[in-house]
Amino acid sequence: MDLEEIGDVDGVPVCGSTDDDYRVCSVCGGDCEPDTALSADGTGVRIAFVCPKHGVQSILDPFAALR
Ligand SMILES: [Zn+2]
Repeated sequence: MDLEEIGDVDGVPVCGSTDDDYRVCSVCGGDCEPDTALSADGTGVRIAFVCPKHGVQSILDPFAALR
């Protein structure tokens, strides 16, 4: 499983798997955009993958293994 930088939170790079399953829209099969807007709830950093047409497809918690 390869990792790539998929975004950053407050300047800290966030890496995720390049396994495409979690970032492909289940409706249209399109590539979803990573969105860290949901990470500001005080429960930790999470990255939502959002299809421009169909909304959030998955939530990735890249630091789950560190807690
Ligand atoms: Zn879609």
